[in-house]
Amino acid sequence: MTIQSLRSSVANTYSRFPITLVRGKGCKVWDDKGKEYLDFAAGIAVCSLGHCHPAVTEAIARQAGTLVHVSNLYWTMPQLETAHLLTENSFADRVFFCNSGAEAIEGALKLARRHGHQNLGPDCYEVICLEGSFHGRTLATIAATGQPVFQQGFEPMPSGFTHVPPDSITALKLAAGPRTAAVLIEPIQGEGGVRPVSDEFLLAAREICDRMGALLMFDEVQVGMGRTGTLFAYEQTPVIPDVICLAKALGNGFPIGAMLAKEEVMSHLPPGSHASTFGGNPVACAAAKVVIETLTSPGFLDRVKETGTYLKTGLESLAGKHSEKILEVRGRGLIQAIEFRKPVPELANKLMDEGFLVLLSQEKILRLIPPLIITKAEINAMLNAIENNI
Ligand SMILES: *Cc1c(COP(=O)(O)O)cnc(C)c1O
Repeated sequence: MTIQSLRSSVANTYSRFPITLVRGKGCKVWDDKGKEYLDFAAGIAVCSLGHCHPAVTEAIARQAGTLVHVSNLYWTMPQLETAHLLTENSFADRVFFCNSGAEAIEGALKLARRHGHQNLGPDCYEVICLEGSFHGRTLATIAATGQPVFQQGFEPMPSGFTHVPPDSITALKLAAGPRTAAVLIEPIQGEGGVRPVSDEFLLAAREICDRMGALLMFDEVQVGMGRTGTLFAYEQTPVIPDVICLAKALGNGFPIGAMLAKEEVMSHLPPGSHASTFGGNPVACAAAKVVIETLTSPGFLDRVKETGTYLKTGLESLAGKHSEKILEVRGRGLIQAIEFRKPVPELANKLMDEGFLVLLSQEKILRLIPPLIITKAEINAMLNAIENNI
């Protein structure tokens, strides 16, 4: 059968680039015709250590030959060790493992309701979210997502979600009340176009949550795991959240998600209250363990900061030279974006033809989320390709 006819067997829920990828190594991938691409999409901020990182591949292969799955009715060493690495390197005391970003957020939303009900009463269930946010594709996470396009056709939405404009402290104060169980924030909105939330807003959210007994929850599914130059994005903000959700880069491509919280908060999910059959699977945790060890190895995150600054500086100089076309450059570490003044719908395709994979949001925001091991030479190649195609 031809690839073309096989494609009709897959649900048509994605608009895909018309290439079939067969192999990856480091920052490069190859299609079925042998064409090479420099990958500034990294599987949507997933393959942060690069494709087929030898230590991750080795850990997955070794664990796959030892024990693949037993469920959470038993302990396994990879899960214990990964949980310990996450708590040792964060504010959190406990980790709930799952399989995706949406599932991590779903867990956080359920935790917020249990915490609210048990501490403040049955009417405390509302979660304040931000306009422009993205939290996943399950029914609860699209209700939390602050972009109506993801909700259309799926109504009625689960109740208990309200949205305020990012950086409007006034709106946040108005929205907060005795029903507020949590405030859910992406410290940098990823899908929404790489928009960092201001320190002032985060401080106000922290203060409101403290006053109300509500939870401040960070969605770090995209910007956690070293993406911004620190292991977690909250480390570069003036606040410490009560809950963080991780997924994307946690397994470097092996599916795994996690929700982290302090002891008192996580104690609201006692045995039997929440679960995931595959969550914390030994193979997924073996991958995540190597990812965390690599990200926290001496010098690694310093290099991410350095290459992130190099990329940003390069983009800013492009923006300076082409200010009639480029509105703004935004980002932190190795999540950077250029917002164009007008839609550039063909840009991603043109770059792909030249061997560069990038992501475009809302037709005019070019999002660059390369593997964290990207080199300055590769960044230069990308900057030249962008300049030649705008
Ligand atoms: C990708 C993403 C999600 C959803 O993760 P899935 O693994 O696709 O379910 C949630 N929140 C943010 C910020 C994301 O970028």
